[in-house]
Amino acid sequence: NRRIVLASRPQGEPVAHNFRLETVNKPVPGEGEVLLRAVYLSLDPYMRGRMNDAKSYAEPVAIDDVMVGAAVSQVEVSNHPDYKVGEWVLSFGGWQDYFVSNGEGLMTLGDNPTHPSYALGIMGMPGFTAYMGLLDIGAPKAGETVVVAAATGPVGATVGQIAKLKGCRVVGIAGGAEKCRHAKEVLGFDECIDHKAPDFAQQLATHCHDGIDVYFENVGGKVFDAVMPLLNTSARVPVCGLISQYNATSLPDGPDRLSLLMGTLLVKRIKMQGFIIFDDYGDRYPEFAQDMGQWLAQGKIQYREQIVEGLENMASAFIGLLKGENFGKIVIKVNNP
Ligand code: NDP
Repeated sequence: NRRIVLASRPQGEPVAHNFRLETVNKPVPGEGEVLLRAVYLSLDPYMRGRMNDAKSYAEPVAIDDVMVGAAVSQVEVSNHPDYKVGEWVLSFGGWQDYFVSNGEGLMTLGDNPTHPSYALGIMGMPGFTAYMGLLDIGAPKAGETVVVAAATGPVGATVGQIAKLKGCRVVGIAGGAEKCRHAKEVLGFDECIDHKAPDFAQQLATHCHDGIDVYFENVGGKVFDAVMPLLNTSARVPVCGLISQYNATSLPDGPDRLSLLMGTLLVKRIKMQGFIIFDDYGDRYPEFAQDMGQWLAQGKIQYREQIVEGLENMASAFIGLLKGENFGKIVIKVNNP
């Protein structure tokens, strides 16, 4: 059993030596347990937060513990009446080949799912996040302008496409010309602006000529600075993530714009609301799965995955994810089915 543990806590950007690849004995399932063999492991931005020894909505990973995360696995041994050998399941097994479970928190994906890895992306946590954050907090109406950053990632790409299905005008923000082209040509966004362009804020203002009604916040930092003055009266801002700040070790340099933000919220009566997907919306997963399953089957939602082969490449892929080196949902293929 190969596994990746947290070797040390990062200061700022994670580096290779914060992780350690180990080989340990394969675990043995007891009575009422299953042995799961991972095929696909998920990489997600929230994992950066778990590397810090800080109070948050979830416990940090302890030093020398296996890095946390979702896994799509097959049952290799079953001593559990509800699971049979060969069946596919979604678990929270972490960055490793093998995981023993008593069934708690497992979701079965059947004997032969068409796209097993989709359970980590469009049909799983990121897709669900996009759906609930946009529809429940963002409440977009036809004709409104919706802006979303990290526009080609699994959350942002889904937010923009659902907003299009609801009849909105969608402006994406992404890093680089290739991602912006993808957002427009494949995902069907109306516009996509490169946040690395020197005149990014100016371009965003030009392309949001009627202001912004819904800003789905994935990024924070200078992207939010450019968005804030464009928000319309009664705008909604689902606060989903702040990836530009995940490696920060201190607050950004001044001037302090907190009073500007508070003044904007007040004068424009803006609703800004954070959410943690499974804590806040866990009971609404079936509603999402029904809609998203249908949209995918009808070809109404496009989904891009980037498959990286090998557990040994997982840490470097994660470091890259936080820098925008991924293009689409990153999935690590650790074993053949
Ligand atoms: P993504 O693949 O979209 O995340 C990585 C992307 O973020 C990069 O490819 C990059 O895209 C962008 N990015 C990174 N650094 C910066 C920066 N400094 N400025 C601007 N953009 C940057 O991952 P997900 O779709 O999985 O997640 C998107 C967001 O949603 C994250 O913030 C995540 O934490 C959050 N999230 C929140 C959940 C919740 O329950 N609240 C649940 C799931 C996700 P580019 O190259 O285009 O800039």
